[in-house]
Amino acid sequence: MTVTTPTLISYSPATGEPVGEVPITAPAKIPAIVAGAREAQKAWGAITGHQRADILRPAGQAILDNKDELARLLSAEQGKPLADGLSEVTHTGEKLMEEVDEIAEAVAPRELTGEGMVTTLRYDPLGVVAAITPWNFPMLMPQWMALPALVAGNAVVLKPSEQTPLIAQAYADILNRFLPPHVLQVVHGADDQGRALVASDVNLIAFTGSKATGQKIMAAAAEGLKRVILELGSKDPLIVLEGADLDAAAEFAARNSFRNCGQVCVSTERIYVQGTIAEAFTEKLAQAAKAYRSGDPFAEGSVLGPMVMREQKEHVARQIEDAVAQGAKLVLGGGDHPGNAMPATILRGVTHEMDIMKTETFGPVAPIMTFEHPDEAVSLANDSEYGLGAVVFGPEPLARDVAARIDAGMIGVNRGIHGAKGSPWVGARHSGIGYHMGPDGHRQFCQVRTITRNA
Ligand code: ADP
Repeated sequence: MTVTTPTLISYSPATGEPVGEVPITAPAKIPAIVAGAREAQKAWGAITGHQRADILRPAGQAILDNKDELARLLSAEQGKPLADGLSEVTHTGEKLMEEVDEIAEAVAPRELTGEGMVTTLRYDPLGVVAAITPWNFPMLMPQWMALPALVAGNAVVLKPSEQTPLIAQAYADILNRFLPPHVLQVVHGADDQGRALVASDVNLIAFTGSKATGQKIMAAAAEGLKRVILELGSKDPLIVLEGADLDAAAEFAARNSFRNCGQVCVSTERIYVQGTIAEAFTEKLAQAAKAYRSGDPFAEGSVLGPMVMREQKEHVARQIEDAVAQGAKLVLGGGDHPGNAMPATILRGVTHEMDIMKTETFGPVAPIMTFEHPDEAVSLANDSEYGLGAVVFGPEPLARDVAARIDAGMIGVNRGIHGAKGSPWVGARHSGIGYHMGPDGHRQFCQVRTITRNA
């Protein structure tokens, strides 16, 4: 008798054809996988962070050596144009080589001296980290969670999104050429596997995904007082003040609303423009949007691929239709499109009564609303349960003053939200709990301990 393992088939969002498959992990097997991780962690956690960095560093070059093949797989499975797939793969490999040392440095022990005493501040491993990662950056996101966890001395069990299992598996396979067995393992499947992983004997759950799932994970984690790092939804505002460089603001608005088909956690999802410049800004945005041509990920000249899945496209289409039905005007895009395609879309005349200004869209839509006074822009921007990123374009010092009043974790003034080297990736309010990146972000994968002795 032959026993066939059920498989998870990964489909191309562009063609609907299968790209490949991986074996599904039976939820009942997850506790044993986690037990294997815990055993492997003992030796892995006993060496120093710098030694772990040395072991992992060559994986970055191995990613770069295979970048063309990996980029084709990523784009076939996720749908982003090949050039974007290639830049994600290249960025992942380069960042790996750079970040292993930064993480090792962040988690190295340090000494504090006081009156008659010396304290060693240690950043020890937590044990086993569960990483549940999304599909929008299907190679970079597994790295975001696995790399700091690993360099900090933890074992990792990764459950990538069921939309993009192949590229996540390829990423883990490369790291596993260098890692000891069972330090990094992958489980495949959907909600049942996620639930089983959270319920298993893990010490920390790192998750990026929807608020609703984040709440379930946090509730389940409470049972064993497991640590969580959650990056959840957002509805990032862009404020454009009178006196702003309108070309720069429109170019930014187009890029940040449309890139990756709007499937970025810090995409611009709400635009507030001062009434006096609204018409000029909207015209410039419509002009800039023309560069975001929708098409097959492998076709020359496609800047936007299809959306990752049908449900996601339908959600975006529904929000657009609902806004139009309530009086919003289509400036560009909208309409019916085959498959998962969704063109760059601009709406004006939206209000906070419309779902498109309340619920995360995660699609290539720029909804524009006007305001009269900067105070009003601040209240509108803060009228959201979320607070990951926000951007203000306008004259200084007003733009900086407005930025400081926005309740978000990462705010850009006359530029995007990405901070200087060492900055954390952090959300406010319901956009998350805990955060990533920078020395403090890396240390969230650690148990902080102090050992104090007499001087
Ligand atoms: P999306 O980010 O696409 O909206 P979700 O937030 O619903 O997706 O889910 C993100 C990931 O979390 C998926 O990999 C899914 O399988 C997993 N998941 C769903 N429900 C749970 C749960 N209760 N516990 C743990 N993981 C879950």
